[in-house]
Amino acid sequence: MSTRPSVTAYIGLGANLGDPAAALREAMVSLQQTPGIESLRASALYRSAPVDAAGPWFVNAVAEVVTTLTAPALLDVLQDLEQAAGRERPYRHAPRTLDLDLLLYGEGRIASPRLTVPHPRMAQRAFVLLPLRELAPDRVNEAALAAVTDQPIERDPPDVSQGASRSRVH
Ligand code: AMP
Repeated sequence: MSTRPSVTAYIGLGANLGDPAAALREAMVSLQQTPGIESLRASALYRSAPVDAAGPWFVNAVAEVVTTLTAPALLDVLQDLEQAAGRERPYRHAPRTLDLDLLLYGEGRIASPRLTVPHPRMAQRAFVLLPLRELAPDRVNEAALAAVTDQPIERDPPDVSQGASRSRVH
């Protein structure tokens, strides 16, 4: 039987409702336990102001995975995890979100109806570029970084494990 080659892929994680840091950590654990994902390295957690949206600040991170899954199969995994997080409610009717994006899949360039890789908006987002730079500095363009310095973002905020109660960085 042939074995698929391993590919290094990068996944963007974000959440801004419920306990976002817990949602991100649970998603990382689930990814690590997924058949076809051989290893995972996580960036620090960041807190960022919502871009094009109101509401609480987001908690963001990037995960590097080494995987034998195809890109569409990896997207299936990400969408299943988003669904599962949406069903886990800390209390009745409590909102809970988890957003998982496939940022990079090796050197792959994909343009299919359900998947665009590299992720089309990643270069405009500090909450993607800064955690990605921790894991893969060669995949982050300095000019792109310079263009997002106005976006409010905090690395490793001290209270992030206490949930989403704080909505501002002081
Ligand atoms: P969102 O609401 O931002 O989570 O977007 C989800 C939609 O984007 C789904 O319909 C996906 O099929 C599509 N999509 C296209 N490219 C990507 C990508 N690189 N990562 C995640 N979702 C993607």
